[in-house]
Amino acid sequence: MSKQIASVPLAEIARLGIVVTKCRKTLAQVKAETGADYILNGGMWNADGSPCRGLKVGGKLLSATPWGDLAGYGWNSAQDIRQTTDWNACQNYICTSPLIVDGKRLAKLPCDSAQGGARPRSAMGIVGSSLLLFCTDGSMTPEQLCGELEDRGCSSAMMLDSGGSSQCDFDGKTVRASRLVHNWICVWVKKEAAVEPPEGEESMGNYRVTPSIGLNARSGPGTGYAKTGAYPCGTVVEILAIQDGWGQTEKGWVSMDYLEHVEAARRVTDNGIAIQADYIPEGRKNRPAGSNPDTSITIHETGNYADGADAAAHASWLKDDDAEKKRISYHYTVDDHAIIQHLPDSETAYHAGDGTDGPCNTTSIGIEICVNKDGDFERAKANAASLVRLLMDEHGFSLEHVYQHNHWNGKDCPKTIRATPGGWDAFLSLCGGHDPEQEALEDAVDALAAAGILTAVDYWKGDSYSSSNVHALIKSMAAYVRRQ
Ligand SMILES: [Zn+2]
Repeated sequence: MSKQIASVPLAEIARLGIVVTKCRKTLAQVKAETGADYILNGGMWNADGSPCRGLKVGGKLLSATPWGDLAGYGWNSAQDIRQTTDWNACQNYICTSPLIVDGKRLAKLPCDSAQGGARPRSAMGIVGSSLLLFCTDGSMTPEQLCGELEDRGCSSAMMLDSGGSSQCDFDGKTVRASRLVHNWICVWVKKEAAVEPPEGEESMGNYRVTPSIGLNARSGPGTGYAKTGAYPCGTVVEILAIQDGWGQTEKGWVSMDYLEHVEAARRVTDNGIAIQADYIPEGRKNRPAGSNPDTSITIHETGNYADGADAAAHASWLKDDDAEKKRISYHYTVDDHAIIQHLPDSETAYHAGDGTDGPCNTTSIGIEICVNKDGDFERAKANAASLVRLLMDEHGFSLEHVYQHNHWNGKDCPKTIRATPGGWDAFLSLCGGHDPEQEALEDAVDALAAAGILTAVDYWKGDSYSSSNVHALIKSMAAYVRRQ
């Protein structure tokens, strides 16, 4: 069991925000993408994916109108966070299940049966002039949680969520869960003042779009130019040139005033693998450049069963004379522990044997899955599936646009997957986020719950059990068997 509690002085918080990922990103991804110092799973959501009770982010109400009589937390800046029912007056507002209001524990906690019982919990509260964040994957009742928060001196406190959603990363101290959640409470603390670059010396590189309403791109460096596109808040854009306080991006010119510099655009899949870029040098004959409209993904296997033929080995081979001579290239190699990108998605690659102008080579993103016999092919496929999900998300297409190499020119590739009965359907199902092992576990837990053998369904659908709970389950199963 792990339990993490963080107390962050409000004066030290640079930004307190709610990051909405609608159950599409893992904690590791949120951490990599936001750089937040403290991250805690946020509020609850309905079966249809909408947030429930109250949620307002950056001035935009995302839930239905919050219930008037329940106090949530509202703030414009971290320093003015308060427990309030006046969601209208705050840019950010979250209301789930208040436990302590005005220094007093509520006589009756506003939890429904879905939140009752003993299960993992997350919560936030105020102690003096600090923000308290709480998370545990151990089992507690709402009453016990309330008691613990009282003991810690909370003048106000609110349970955020309960069950298998409970997870956090408090400056590297974590409570882990595999469930993807709707939204996250994120805290960025003030850093030592960096030495500001002198005026006019903004550098090219990667920048994050900061306004909550996003940022327009224009055909030239100024507001007088026509709009050519827009970037949503949080997008990391690459600035290619700078002129008069405007930066040039792929979609056009954007004002540098609304960008913040980030070290590097980190892309991380939902199983926590950061994509490494190791590009084939420009000018090589297997890097024809050209523009790839990225309308699909094509799955290959490397066909190289030798020990050590992993993603790194293929990355160096692609930069070598042999691959150049054979005119072979593709966008990604995936093995059981790494994902390496060899070309930007937007460039043509020679991966499908359909010619320099072939419909696959010029429109599809090529992924090679390693089959080296000292690797774990099941894990490599799972990593490839996580990359497919990331690319579908980034490029906005669906599973219908994921093809076998075979689709384009009849080649028997991806060979192992094709040779396995049901192999391709199973791979697509993996890409769709289905984990057959987890689904089988959840079915088993539901069956045991229906027979009354266990009650903490979320706990048993998770993946970390205490030995005392396992012992209790075994005894409960034995008692059931004896009754039969
Ligand atoms: Zn192939």
